[in-house]
Amino acid sequence: MSKTRTMSLAAGALTAIALAAMLAPGLGAANARPDDEKKAEEKKDDAKAKADAGSATAEWYKDPDCRLVFFAVLEGLYEDGVPTEAVDLIIGKESKLENKVKHNFVFQCELCHAVYEAFVLYQRRQTFNGSEADTFQDGSIDADLLDRLRAGEAYTRVMAMGTLVQPWIKRKLEKLDMKDEDQKKLLDRLHELAKKGYALTDKRRREDPDYGDDWRFYDACQACKAIDTVAKMRKEGK
Ligand SMILES: [Zn+2]
Repeated sequence: MSKTRTMSLAAGALTAIALAAMLAPGLGAANARPDDEKKAEEKKDDAKAKADAGSATAEWYKDPDCRLVFFAVLEGLYEDGVPTEAVDLIIGKESKLENKVKHNFVFQCELCHAVYEAFVLYQRRQTFNGSEADTFQDGSIDADLLDRLRAGEAYTRVMAMGTLVQPWIKRKLEKLDMKDEDQKKLLDRLHELAKKGYALTDKRRREDPDYGDDWRFYDACQACKAIDTVAKMRKEGK
């Protein structure tokens, strides 16, 4: 470390101590820390702990219906050859898992995680042996949709993600060609999972500081909404 850098660090530390002593005169220099700052941090930690109570991530993969959604999305991504640029926009550039999920999905929501994980796996895809291809076609994506995925405002980009996912769920359900009774049961179960997602979205908006004003317009997570919409359409024979 250069001498100048050491000196500026030392000066910085001194300034911090002086500032702390000014703000909290009762505290000694050794444990000086402005009370207000500490309280604010504790409040933030509390809110976060409340929001993240329960398991660290949803155990979506234990549910066969969530797995079906996972494969529907993965299949859609490969079949359509969704460009990496779009995938990167959907799962964001954050390195911390929680923040990555929260870019477009509701943290700990089972259906949201099933969709999210399919994007993550596709993002990590490798080229096929003996080929330069890494997906089933050179897919393009509508420039307008790409623009919407790029939106800083959550509402626009999350809705765009939902629009992209919806046809893949529809395609998967059509391919399954189930008996009416079995299909009805599956659609009901997907609706129940989506309902859990809607309730969790509401809870997050109220309790999790990471879902701020940007999310206030939502009635539901859009991954769940897309799945629920398709389930309803199938039920109505559309
Ligand atoms: Zn959800």
